[in-house]
Amino acid sequence: MPDEGPRPRPVNRRGFFREGLRELLNGVTKATEPLQRALEPFARLEETAASAKPQSGPFSSGARRMSLASLVLRPPGALPEGEFKSTCTRCGHCVDACPANAIRIDPAAAKGAGAPYIDADSMPCVVCESLACMNTCPSGALGPVPMFEIDMGTAVWQEELCIRSKNEECRICYEKCPLGTAAIDIVGATVQVNPLGCIGCGICQHYCPTNPKAIGVIPMAARG
Ligand code: SF4
Ligand code: SF4
Repeated sequence: MPDEGPRPRPVNRRGFFREGLRELLNGVTKATEPLQRALEPFARLEETAASAKPQSGPFSSGARRMSLASLVLRPPGALPEGEFKSTCTRCGHCVDACPANAIRIDPAAAKGAGAPYIDADSMPCVVCESLACMNTCPSGALGPVPMFEIDMGTAVWQEELCIRSKNEECRICYEKCPLGTAAIDIVGATVQVNPLGCIGCGICQHYCPTNPKAIGVIPMAARG
């Protein structure tokens, strides 16, 4: 079979919506309405999280939650889930390149269909300066993406699990986030994730001190 070369990168939905949002907000007189419209694509994500809302924490029980739990975080710059799995050659270069040892390949294919994945509870992507994984991948399964355009997934906060809702002080998710207020903010007793800014690195999930976690990343693949 002839070498078809690297596949074209998919349309970056995060960048698309961010651009759209910028344009929409140019019309100050209708600022609220367009903001809501721009966020509509992410409403489905929140619904998914809500339907997955467990008795005790993210993804812990039930059929819907099981299907969500079968989806894993892929390294930054990954093609959409189906293409990623078929394009990745499992060469392991990204695993070796990651300075945080965040990327794993399960040889038994029990997790991630044998392709590279990130378990944020164990070790999240630290968004290293060189974005080594995506710049190392020879197959095109991971491709170069600017940091702010990375889309591994989106963090979802669950109020009832967060110790802030019990009037205790905790700002770890906010303080650890490498994107800062572009992605997450503390407003009163609430933690507010900006789905347009969150890149889904999983650092907030990793450092969240509650068990089960009060904040967790829904992988990109869950958006369908
Ligand atoms: S961006 Fe850097 S830290 Fe994040 S998974 Fe890739 S190599 Fe690891
Ligand atoms: S470097 Fe690319 S092809 Fe190799 S295992 Fe990682 S994602 Fe797959």
